[in-house]
Amino acid sequence: MLYLLFFTKAGFALAVQNSEQGIVAFDNAVTKIEKLIDSNVPLAQLELKRFEGRLDELSLKQKITYQNLLTDIYISQGQFHLGKQAATEGLALTLKLSSPSLLISELLYSRGFANESIGETALASKDYESGLELAKSLHDKVLIATGLINLGAIYYLTDRYENSLTVLNDAYNIAKQTDDDELKGAVNSELGILYAYLDRNKQAMVYYQQSYQYYKKADKTILALNALVNIGMNHLFEKEYEQAITAYKTIIDESDGVAPNQIMYRTYSGLSWANLKKKDPNPEVSYQYLLLSKQYMQSIEQYDIELQYYLDEAFVLFEIERFDETLDSISTVENILAAQMPLGQLKMQARISIVNLKSKTYFKLGHYQQAYDLQAQRLSLTQVMRAKEHIQSVAEVRLTLEAKEADLHKQVLKNQQTLQEIALSTAEQEQQQQKLYLFTIAVVALIFAWLLVKLIQGQRKLYHASSIDMLTGIANRRKLMRKGRKFIHRASAKKTDFSVIMIDIDHFKKVNDQFGHSVGDQVLKKVVELGEDFMRNTDVFGRFGGEEFIVFLPHTSTSQAKIIAERFRTAVEGYSWGIINGLDDSFATSISIGIASSVDMPVDEKYDLTALINRADSLLYQAKNQGRNKVCSE
Ligand code: GH3
Ligand code: MG
Ligand code: MG
Repeated sequence: MLYLLFFTKAGFALAVQNSEQGIVAFDNAVTKIEKLIDSNVPLAQLELKRFEGRLDELSLKQKITYQNLLTDIYISQGQFHLGKQAATEGLALTLKLSSPSLLISELLYSRGFANESIGETALASKDYESGLELAKSLHDKVLIATGLINLGAIYYLTDRYENSLTVLNDAYNIAKQTDDDELKGAVNSELGILYAYLDRNKQAMVYYQQSYQYYKKADKTILALNALVNIGMNHLFEKEYEQAITAYKTIIDESDGVAPNQIMYRTYSGLSWANLKKKDPNPEVSYQYLLLSKQYMQSIEQYDIELQYYLDEAFVLFEIERFDETLDSISTVENILAAQMPLGQLKMQARISIVNLKSKTYFKLGHYQQAYDLQAQRLSLTQVMRAKEHIQSVAEVRLTLEAKEADLHKQVLKNQQTLQEIALSTAEQEQQQQKLYLFTIAVVALIFAWLLVKLIQGQRKLYHASSIDMLTGIANRRKLMRKGRKFIHRASAKKTDFSVIMIDIDHFKKVNDQFGHSVGDQVLKKVVELGEDFMRNTDVFGRFGGEEFIVFLPHTSTSQAKIIAERFRTAVEGYSWGIINGLDDSFATSISIGIASSVDMPVDEKYDLTALINRADSLLYQAKNQGRNKVCSE
């Protein structure tokens, strides 16, 4: 989780105090790098690299801090193997420490997360457990709760539900004693997932709702949206389709089109399902949402996302009676599954559900013999499933869960009466369990179980979802717009000046065409670097898309914005491009700029972000029309 990675301040303070030997410059750089990891990871990496050749001059704690920072940088960029290696090197150094330090816990959690992300769950558990032990001995509440949350997640991901329940409850109680809203959001979210796993959707819903509230309070927009995804999913599980649609629509409203693709994928595939299953089903609308989700699917780098999508597609196409296309989707699913033999529990479920659907499709098409043969195949697959222990283990946990909860509320075993009730409810549970098992092999539920697990795996990664643009290191569109809205809100409340600068690189397509895309990338990066020199601390400079950038400038008049823009334009025009591989100093490029300021806007649009951006955009267009390499404003 994000704050785990950046929860390194205490550790750094320690390192800074102990720097009699070692370079003073390093201690100064640490604070800066730490901040940069949150805002500009590539630059953080560059800053840290300056010490790479001078590690011998650093004190022991400085060396450990160096490895800790390196680990965070790699993990933030999704380079989990490198992150793991850096953490391991850091941990080797900690063996020489004379007293235990929180740095060790942090390194262990980070390495655990790297392990978790590359599928090494056993190693991840070990790291989380050791880190937690140490955090406990050092009495650090936030770090203890963090370790428990990590452990809770790894436990449910490896079917150890009872352990998960215990540690997550502990984390919940510890988090309550802090005023860390993000931490509270995280623990509620994990508890929600666990209860959903255990088929306790009502309880899960309570936790999801709470996590949504806490994340909102902590201003963690993406995590809050993700909580809404969980809420929508939970409604689908409960067949509350109208409520699900409401939850998904809220996501679309609150995301302003800048939510991560993964969230948008879930939202549209959820909307598709809800429209298919609701009381007055709307299969055509459902299909349209499915197509929308497909667009997002294509830009998500997540294992199995395609399998998920084509499963969905097959079911929707069947419902809208496009049977030939249904068979196409089914065969795509079959091919994906065939490449992954042998299949684990969940994929077995997917396979059974797809065989069932295929049978139904053949039936509709009048191929009765094929339909019959497929049913026989489904039965034998189901028998294989029955032999697996997974379902049993879930059943057992569900039974003990009752007692566990009661225990938590200090009501259990108070009197015979309660005991009898529990015995009774256990028997009922067993019966229900039977029914539930039958239900689990029903087509619809299968898909949900599938989606849920995948959702969770993606979710753990989402905590690390970056708000920076990976190529240039400045704010990405999501962060840019979030900041923009915040700024405009303040400017509007205080009636202060506000300017928007919009920048577009001239004839950039030609650069790509002539020198190749990777040279194009280098030019883009360099332009951004040049621009950063002119930005003030209060400005936010972000990539709006492609080779277009925006700067939001609070407390800035048109003429001040013009000065900044003009400097930026001149710097690009005059830059010697020879240092970039593949270019020489004869290469030239330029930027065009449009500026909109609140003072120049009509009364009702002064503090309307969209109107300001549109205005800057049309002034930029004007600059292009006047021959490019120009700044245009009112
Ligand atoms: P104009 O002066 O009118 O802005 O011309 P242009 O060629 O810059 O305009 P256009 O918007 O047609 O082309 C922008 C190009 O930028 C197209 C796209 O291939 C390229 N581009 C967008 N993002 C990236 C990127 O991340 N890396 C590289 N190398 N090129 C990119
Ligand atoms: Mg453009
Ligand atoms: Mg351009």
